[in-house]
Amino acid sequence: MDVKNKALLELLKKPGNNSCVDCGIESPEYASYNIGIFICSRCAMIHKGLGAHISKVKHLKLDEWEDSQVERMREVGNLAAKLKYEQRVPNCYRRPKPGDPQSILEEWICAKYMREEFSRPERQTFLSGNMEGFLMKRGKEDARYHPRKFNLSEVDGTLKYYVKETGEPKAVIALSDVNVAFAPAKLGHANSLQLSYPNKEGVTRHLFVYHDDPQTIITWYTAIRCAKLHSLQVAYPAANETELLECLCQDFTCEGWLWKTGPKPSDSFRKRWFTLDHRKLMYHENPLDAYPKGEIFLGHMMSGYSVRVGVPPGTRDDLGFTFTVRTPQRWYYLSAPTSLQRDAWIQCIDAVIDQPLTAHDKITANRLSRNKKYGNIFSR
Ligand SMILES: [Zn+2]
Repeated sequence: MDVKNKALLELLKKPGNNSCVDCGIESPEYASYNIGIFICSRCAMIHKGLGAHISKVKHLKLDEWEDSQVERMREVGNLAAKLKYEQRVPNCYRRPKPGDPQSILEEWICAKYMREEFSRPERQTFLSGNMEGFLMKRGKEDARYHPRKFNLSEVDGTLKYYVKETGEPKAVIALSDVNVAFAPAKLGHANSLQLSYPNKEGVTRHLFVYHDDPQTIITWYTAIRCAKLHSLQVAYPAANETELLECLCQDFTCEGWLWKTGPKPSDSFRKRWFTLDHRKLMYHENPLDAYPKGEIFLGHMMSGYSVRVGVPPGTRDDLGFTFTVRTPQRWYYLSAPTSLQRDAWIQCIDAVIDQPLTAHDKITANRLSRNKKYGNIFSR
């Protein structure tokens, strides 16, 4: 390492430079020396993909640097670059976090430096409130994907999809009730989403879609989030924005295989795919099922909701990593594949029941309690 590499490492100590300007991960090892930013190895790969006419990437320790390049890094740095390239990021836009899916990170970087969307808001097409186009949608029964037309209308507060382009929509989804999560691992496709919404009977329906172009999928995701925020602002004019932003689409807090027993102590454990979506704990036979087998609403701890390690004496406990979710209506006996996963589930559920209910949560609770299909209150 020569004196210039050492000078660069000194610059890392300046506020803002000690975490990647794009994803926030600590201790960046690379820099884009024309833009003047410090970035992590994952984001450096994406910057290289943009081409040297947009971003020129070097390793802080392993590459040779010229004086003028070091000087550029000293002049700009992460804080000043954020002021320029993130000037107008709408608050409905999902900023990437470390570990986020690749398409989110790639599109954030393209939007920032290639399309300069956040310094030129007229380029933010996802804010228009309207979007129409085709997505590949997984069939409910046959697991094959078919092109389906989707239409987003902020004015109507709906997202629709069509089986036949000219006919009636197959589903009309209220934006205030829809959640959109990234699902690349589940679908085995990099640019894929899971849309979940209550159907007419009040049962959650999951749709799985993908598009070959990452920008298209991110634009859909962002457009739905932004339109949803505006719908919520209309529905709850008294709510503050922070509260509404928490209701926006997000990836599932916790998801994975668990074993679940029936309500009787002698019932055996069955393997189920569990998904925690805000206050809704759903279980399915398979991860890509169109409908959950059951949905459990998680209320506030003061209303009789809790989660505990273990199951009551006399309940079958063959698997070892058991825990109990208590609701005022029923206790659910669950078991995780490892103690680590059990602890993660308990932590997630605890965090949810510790939160007071928002106005929107109360609507979800009412919907689930009205749903007759869920025999023993929310569960079948
Ligand atoms: Zn990064």
